[in-house]
Amino acid sequence: MSITTEERAGVIDRLIDAEQERFRKMHPRSADAWQEGKRHFLYGGPSHWMRRWAGGFPVYVDEASGAHIRDIDGHDYIDFCLGDTGGMCGHAPEAVIDAALRQLKRGATMMMPTEDSLWVGAELSRRFGQRHWTLTTSATDANRAAIRIARMITGRPKVLVFSGCYHGGVEEAHVEIRDGRVGLRNMIHPNGIDHDTVTRVVEFNDVAALEAALAHGDVACVLAEPLMTNFGMIPVDPGFHQALRELTRRSGTVLVIDETHTLSCGPRGYTGIHALQPDIFVAGKAIAGGIPAGVFGLNQEISERLWAIVPHVNPRERQSAHLGFGGTLAGNALTVATMRAVLEKVLTDENYSRMIATATRLADEIRGLIEANRLPWHVTQIGARAEIMFMAQQPRSGADVIAGRQAGLETLLHAFYMNEGILVTPFHTMLLMCPATSDADIALHTAVFVGFIDLLRKTGV
Ligand code: PMP
Repeated sequence: MSITTEERAGVIDRLIDAEQERFRKMHPRSADAWQEGKRHFLYGGPSHWMRRWAGGFPVYVDEASGAHIRDIDGHDYIDFCLGDTGGMCGHAPEAVIDAALRQLKRGATMMMPTEDSLWVGAELSRRFGQRHWTLTTSATDANRAAIRIARMITGRPKVLVFSGCYHGGVEEAHVEIRDGRVGLRNMIHPNGIDHDTVTRVVEFNDVAALEAALAHGDVACVLAEPLMTNFGMIPVDPGFHQALRELTRRSGTVLVIDETHTLSCGPRGYTGIHALQPDIFVAGKAIAGGIPAGVFGLNQEISERLWAIVPHVNPRERQSAHLGFGGTLAGNALTVATMRAVLEKVLTDENYSRMIATATRLADEIRGLIEANRLPWHVTQIGARAEIMFMAQQPRSGADVIAGRQAGLETLLHAFYMNEGILVTPFHTMLLMCPATSDADIALHTAVFVGFIDLLRKTGV
């Protein structure tokens, strides 16, 4: 006899309770630290994102190295979260340590360039296309700057994003379509912003909706990941990028491609692999090996349009001095030195080959288990990133994810993973490889995933 949806939800809830109880018992020191943290920090940890772990509270890290983390209770984890991509180089990579130490001894931040920046600029253009680059302290900052520039040169107010997107702390991107209506994503507070004035949102892979939204002529830029990675993984339909490029060109809309996560596709990002032609290219997170950094690069045409508004001038001329974006620490000597180390020695062709081969092995094993057990789930792997989703079909849009996602089961898997020594990003089930992720790590993951399937089977869900 099969159980009803409500009964099933009740069983999953009780299983989550049991896993959280197991987690508490296994992590007495982290539990105490979390209680103490709540006395000092607004949401318990130094960043509010740190409270989202499915065990009920985060583990406190003693040390992280390569693909592994050890917590203060002495447990070892295979880290497939990798700081939600910021740690994609692996933890504490030697080249980054050496570069950072060398530069720290020579000065971290002076608001003056170092010669390393010349190498970094040339390398960014070699990988991602000839552009004029700016460094920022985060991908959020890079996206905000890209939007500001798009508005400056087009004089238009709106930013178009795809439902289910995430681009950082960017007001314009906090929107989604739910039940056919445009609203704020994840119950996020509107923050006094009139989102009708500043945004348009359409479903990913929907060319007709995109065309209609751009036809109003009021969209400064489309801000998009080349494939969606923040609402599960939503692959892009063949031909969609071509349509996106043609429609943005035709409507005079700036195209911003945010490769912050999809740098995991390969050394030159999805843009390099598929010869995309964004007007503005954005990346961040792993690009300086964990030292806070983002980059954005304008193509020649967009650069010239910006220079027409804010020209290069002798510093004695005071007009147009302030671009309205930046950050005093952006592009500082430390960031530039570590970015150089990452691009020269860590995110190399060779390491990408290894990471992608590891991800392929992981995804093949998961797919095999899903098929052997006839589970209505799937795994998507693109480059060094894999995503397990508890729905039978790959989604094509945010609407598909909203319709098919099983949030309770995701939380249960994440809590179970933590108790079995595996970390994945807390927001959905993304598993990312770094150069140090090993065959032994993949084998252990497979064993744990088998255990999870057994747990569900035993409890009848
Ligand atoms: N763009 C994308 C695609 C992201 O996934 C994120 C963060 N998850 C950001 C931008 C923002 O990055 P940060 O929080 O480091 O500014």
